[in-house]
Amino acid sequence: MPVPFFSFTTQNQQIRAATLEAMARVFDSEWYVLGEEVRAFEAEYAAFGHTAHCVGVSSGLAALHLALLALGIGPGDEVLVPSNAYVATWLAVSYVGATIVPVEPDVATSNLAPARLAAAITPRTRAIIPVHLYGQACDMAAIMQMAQKHGLWVVEDNAQAHGATSHGQLTGSFGHLNATSFYPTKNLGALGDAGALTTNDTALAEQLRVLRNYGSRQKYQNEVIGQNARLDELQAAILRVKLPLLPRWTLERQQLAAWYNNHLAGIPWLQLPEQLATSSHVYHLFVVHTPHRAALQQHLAAHGIGTAVHYPVPPHLQPAYQHLGFAKGQFPLAEQLATTCLSLPLWPGMTAAQVAEVAHAIRAFQPK
Ligand SMILES: *Cc1c(COP(=O)(O)O)cnc(C)c1O
Repeated sequence: MPVPFFSFTTQNQQIRAATLEAMARVFDSEWYVLGEEVRAFEAEYAAFGHTAHCVGVSSGLAALHLALLALGIGPGDEVLVPSNAYVATWLAVSYVGATIVPVEPDVATSNLAPARLAAAITPRTRAIIPVHLYGQACDMAAIMQMAQKHGLWVVEDNAQAHGATSHGQLTGSFGHLNATSFYPTKNLGALGDAGALTTNDTALAEQLRVLRNYGSRQKYQNEVIGQNARLDELQAAILRVKLPLLPRWTLERQQLAAWYNNHLAGIPWLQLPEQLATSSHVYHLFVVHTPHRAALQQHLAAHGIGTAVHYPVPPHLQPAYQHLGFAKGQFPLAEQLATTCLSLPLWPGMTAAQVAEVAHAIRAFQPK
C-alpha cells in the first residue's frame, strides 16, 4: 500500500462535525473580522501556552514581522537567526530593514547552537530568533542566559513546536515576544493562513493589537503605520475546535516517532533525529539525515512512499538573498544539513503498520 507523506483524512474525520458547526456559527453571526471568536481563541491559546497574552494574526510570517516592528528593530540593528532556518525567519528581518546575522546550528539537532551565539554578538546586535526546528525545543535556558547577559530581545519562532518544552517550560513562553503559525499542516493548523504572537508583556501585546489592525486602536484613528495582519473569525473558530485535540495529536506524533526510532536503529548510513535530554520534541516532522538522500528518496518513491525535504536550499544561497553576498561554503553546516535531510511520512492518524512499511522499505535500500 502506498504511504503518503502527509494526510488530513483522520484529523478531518475527527473534527468534521464540530468544524462545520463552528463555521456555520461564524457565518450566522454576520461578524467576520476581529470579534468574539478571535478573542476567545486568543484566551484559549494563551492558557494552553502558559502566557499572559496571545494576539491572533494572519500568518506566521506576519507574526515574526510584527514582533520585530513592536520591538523597534530596524536599519542598523543586527538580528541573530539560524543559518538553516526556513526562509520566513529571514524575511521578517529583511522587512524591517535590519541586518541578518546567520548562526550555524548544532548538527545533531538542527537547532541553534547556543555556544555559537557569543561569537556573533556585536554592539549592534538587538535580538535573537531561535527556531524550534522540526518540533524540538531549542536549549532555551542557554539562549535566554546569553540574551540577558547582552541585553538582547528574544523572539521565538514557534511555528513547528506547539506544545514542546525546554527544561519543562513550554516553547512560546520564553521570549519577550513569540511568533507562531497555524498554516494547515502545522501541528495546530487552521483551514487557511493564520498565526499568533504570545507574550507576558502587556504593553507589547497592546502594541501588537494596534500594529495588526492598521495602527489603529479606535476606528479611523491611526497612531502608527500599521498593517492589515488580522486573524479571521472563521479561522479562529476552526482553531478553537482543534486546540483541545492538540495534546492527543502530539502524543500520536511522539508514538509514531518512537516506532520509527525502534525500526530504524543501527543503520550505519542513516542518522536518526537526536533529542536533547532537556527538550521535548513534538515531531512536526521526522527528519533523518543521509549522504544518500537523493537515491533513498527515489527508492522510497518507487515503493509508493512519499517524503519531503525541509529545506533543500538554505536562505543564504537563495536568489532572494544574493544581494547579501554570502558565498557557497560560508555556512557549511546549514549546507550539509540541506543536502542530507529527508522528512519521512508522519501525521496524526498514521498507523503502526504504515511506519513499519516505511521502515521496511528503508532497510531494503542498498546505498552505493
Ligand atoms: C511555517 C513556518 C513559518 C511561516 O508561517 P506562515 O504561516 O506560513 O507564514 C515561519 N517559521 C517556521 C519555522 C515555519 O515552519
